Amino acid sequence: MYKYLITLCVLVAAVSCKPQAPADPEPASEEAPVGIVHEEYQGEEPTKPEETELYEPVPPTVDPFGQDGAPSDAIVLFDGSGFSEWIMTRDSSEVVWHLNPDGSMTVKDKTGDIQTRQNFGSVQLHIEWRSPAEVQGGNQSRANSGIFLNGLYEVQVLDNNDNPTYVNGQVASVYKQHIPLAKASVPTGEWNTYDIIYHMPEFNDAGAKIKSGTLTVIHNGVLVQDHVELKGTTPYIGWPKNPPHGKGPLILQDHGDNSRVSYRNIWVREL
Ligand code: MG
Repeated sequence: MYKYLITLCVLVAAVSCKPQAPADPEPASEEAPVGIVHEEYQGEEPTKPEETELYEPVPPTVDPFGQDGAPSDAIVLFDGSGFSEWIMTRDSSEVVWHLNPDGSMTVKDKTGDIQTRQNFGSVQLHIEWRSPAEVQGGNQSRANSGIFLNGLYEVQVLDNNDNPTYVNGQVASVYKQHIPLAKASVPTGEWNTYDIIYHMPEFNDAGAKIKSGTLTVIHNGVLVQDHVELKGTTPYIGWPKNPPHGKGPLILQDHGDNSRVSYRNIWVREL
């Protein structure tokens, strides 16, 4: 008898441990708010799934690592093999910055900025940069360089590690316009990545800005500028200005104070 009682108890325990089937979801209330349907979706609402499935236009296929790490549809601006895509900004002469055996380039102090031969409008830009491990100077004079989209709008490059400065001029700021959402630098001497999405401003025939440009910056995988509005150029002194412009070069800055900043793996995708 005792044996049967044990068996019964085990059975009861097993049944009570059986996973419970989920309760039926509450039926959606007829009065549940759906918000306003976008103007694109007017007319009688489809009742079959295939009525809202598209098969064209088919997006192009891109190999994300098609060209030594650059996407197959990117324009490679620097792969370490030379400066064929670049010129000195001051006089359009051949680039005199250092070309390094490791596939990078380094700012040659006081020689001036460099820029791409090609002009670009809206782009997705990938660029990697490194501040020298041997630190020198402080505040804005420690590994200061910069990336000028359209030749006009600077995303700051700076060694900010244990080196505070004004926050709208710190690393990954849109210089003197937008404080980054975070400081996401790797240790000094290691390679940082910037992935930047730039949309150029629009101007009317009279030269007045009718739509602001925007910048999104991802620093080492961290979103630090979230589709911010460009209020104009990014000068060291004075207010942002809005000169009418079309496409322009990508410019890399020589800050003129022995920054020794290096760059590598630079590519753009035109948008
Ligand atoms: Mg700078």
